[in-house]
Amino acid sequence: MYSFCPYCVFRVPTAIRVLGAAMQTPWAVILTKFNDNNNEPFPRLRYEEIFTPAGAGKWNMVDYFRDMSHGKLDLSGSQVFGWYTLDKATADYTGSGLHQAGRQDLLQWAKDKATAEGVNLGDFHNVVVVLNSGRDLFGGLNGVVCGDDGANSALSGLSPSLLGQEMGHGYGLNHSRREGSTVDYTDPFDVMSTDAGRSAPHPVYTDLDLFGQPVYEIGPGLNAANMGSKGWLDMTRVWTDPRTARISTTVQLRPLHSRHLPGYLAARFGEYFIEFRMNTGWDALVPPCVLVHRFEGGSSYLVPDEDGNEVFRAGSAISTPENLSVLGSGFSIRVNAIDTANEVATVSLARAPAQIPRIFPQEGPYQTPWIKWLEAASLGEAVVILDGKAVSISPNSPAYGILENVAMIGNSHPLMSERLQTSIREEAMANIARLSQTEVSMPLFRNPATSLHRKRGGGFENGSS
Ligand SMILES: [Zn+2]
Repeated sequence: MYSFCPYCVFRVPTAIRVLGAAMQTPWAVILTKFNDNNNEPFPRLRYEEIFTPAGAGKWNMVDYFRDMSHGKLDLSGSQVFGWYTLDKATADYTGSGLHQAGRQDLLQWAKDKATAEGVNLGDFHNVVVVLNSGRDLFGGLNGVVCGDDGANSALSGLSPSLLGQEMGHGYGLNHSRREGSTVDYTDPFDVMSTDAGRSAPHPVYTDLDLFGQPVYEIGPGLNAANMGSKGWLDMTRVWTDPRTARISTTVQLRPLHSRHLPGYLAARFGEYFIEFRMNTGWDALVPPCVLVHRFEGGSSYLVPDEDGNEVFRAGSAISTPENLSVLGSGFSIRVNAIDTANEVATVSLARAPAQIPRIFPQEGPYQTPWIKWLEAASLGEAVVILDGKAVSISPNSPAYGILENVAMIGNSHPLMSERLQTSIREEAMANIARLSQTEVSMPLFRNPATSLHRKRGGGFENGSS
């Protein structure tokens, strides 16, 4: 059995991109013993069932990566080799999460031994070193180490739930996270967080440990953001954002890993990956829900809804926060319905540009900034909109002169020669510098010609003091 290691990946940002049809990624599975433990916990067929087509349909790793890649990864060429006995004793192993060098040593010992026994590792995408104990469990681009002593005393390192993560590291995937956190293992609905995950009892290997807990577990599936990061989403089955300034549409989603059902399996909207998950198959313990993710810096992030729930149910939504919306601009993602009987989730996606009226309102009810614009215009003032709030600036104010020069720069672009634009910019900048210098060198006792006072309620008052 194994003890869970929180540092089981060597973080490498390399992405293996898959374009087109299925990519052959066979794994060499090396059954490995230290020379002081001759135990062979299972017959060879059991290992072949876990890693090769011999176990097709038995929730094995060939099935898993085919399903998690929308059919783009083909592990059917994987082979089991060994048992091989290292010329090392158990005590020679120094690896752990804190001792990565020892882990790399073990991978190298096993690879060297297999090569010496005639295995051409160059024929394989990567290796899984299977120990006859749960001495360690980790994975990276350089290989995976796992194992099981066959004693059924705890969750097995040969569980597809754990191997899905470790072999996922072998394809360059990192642990998944929750939005707002850089802590790994915090997306319960993704195999790259198996630690916090929603793994289900293995449907075929149903052994229980002393506490009645499953020894073998499967799932959950891989989230759409992680799939997308590797090019594993079938883009012919993904609703894709047309990237127009304004959009308002409804998309029906099938469960992300249910390729046998017709329709969209995910949606890409702005930076978001939107997926529907059902409590079936690898996701048997995932509640029916919509999940929203984004991908940044090599990691996927689970985005909660606007009430902080990590799963989206019917009525859940996320939209541009009010303080970031300029004149109604922004996006929204809303779950209209989740139909578990028919395995369909209906999601509304909307995005709107800022709503700038061409004709300013002449009568109430007025909304800032337009009421301010009307007031200010009648007084010959300037109105600046900052953070969605209108600020009026008196023509007597030094800021007004600065603003005139800012406007001059803003108006200098179209149809002018580069030289003319440059000279306008230089003149405006010189004017701004001169006005600023004049203002700061004024005697301290001088009352400002004008000042802005923020009134209760968010409006502005403009006057001399
Ligand atoms: Zn890991």
